[in-house]
Amino acid sequence: MSAKIIDGKAVSSRIRSRLKEDVDALRGQGVIPRLAVVLAGGDPASATYVRMKNKACARLGMDSVQVDLPADVGEGELLARLQGLNSDAAVHGILVQLPLPRHIDQLRVLSAIDPSKDVDSFHPSNVGRLLIGDPLFVPCTPLGICVLLRESGIDVEGKDVVIVGRSTIVGRPLMALLMQKKKGYNATVTICHTGTADMASHTRRAEILVVAAGRPMTVTADMVAEGAVVVDVGVNRVDDPASSKGYRLVGDVDFEGVREVASAITPVPGGVGPMTIAMLMNNTIKAAKMACGMTIED
Ligand code: NAP
Repeated sequence: MSAKIIDGKAVSSRIRSRLKEDVDALRGQGVIPRLAVVLAGGDPASATYVRMKNKACARLGMDSVQVDLPADVGEGELLARLQGLNSDAAVHGILVQLPLPRHIDQLRVLSAIDPSKDVDSFHPSNVGRLLIGDPLFVPCTPLGICVLLRESGIDVEGKDVVIVGRSTIVGRPLMALLMQKKKGYNATVTICHTGTADMASHTRRAEILVVAAGRPMTVTADMVAEGAVVVDVGVNRVDDPASSKGYRLVGDVDFEGVREVASAITPVPGGVGPMTIAMLMNNTIKAAKMACGMTIED
């Protein structure tokens, strides 16, 4: 068996077309959704992600502003810039690109974002709201995964879902989202991490397996049940002298091996990544609608 490839590029492109209609309607009412991205330090991967986010805004007719700060920026200065963005009515969404330089307290910074502009949904109050099943925003990658599965005709309801990774960006919020007592969710969720004894015994009974470990080849074919759906969140650079860049991107899953066992699998690149950006646009448009007092449909 060779698995069906879940095409995140195609699905995200369909979603962006729908979002463009929303933006056009908002612009017709004189509202231009605006995302502010704060980038501290010159990490090349972070700079690339920020460029992609700005480009995605421009393609939908949204505005983006980039706040570039040096790697040695003081925490006070960063917090002051966030205060300025919080009180700027023209800014609807605020995102702080992670990771932050080591000397900065990440939690203090994320807690300083106005929760109603927190489109990445990392503010503790938004994290808590998702956990109690009343989310204001849903973090972009977990939301992107759920939308990708739904749009690909894969129902998670009642399924055994196993997630590898418990980060606050992917694993934990995805768990909270999937286990909501709500139509289209309602899955039975297991989380694995480096403290898990015999991880394969868990991954092998997954009907849907999501891998967000940040390490290539974390999941191999022998760890996957016949017919499982596999979502590979990982993005890792591996040396590749044959590529003009000298590296290529791979996920956390042995794609070639696992595609022979799974019924469907997301590729890297072109799987979860484009969905994450589309959901960031979705959340920013939602923030703009909320700021104008419009009704929000989820
Ligand atoms: P992270 O913060 O480093 O967390 C990794 C998690 O995986 C941790 O919970 C860790 O366990 C667990 N883990 C690592 N190796 C493991 C192993 N061998 N067995 C079991 N568990 C293991 O990473 P992250 O931010 O969640 O990101 C994960 C990957 O997804 C990265 O490659 C990242 O680049 C990618 N990512 C992609 C997107 C996208 O849009 N495509 C978005 C976000 C992240 P412990 O907690 O025990 O340390």
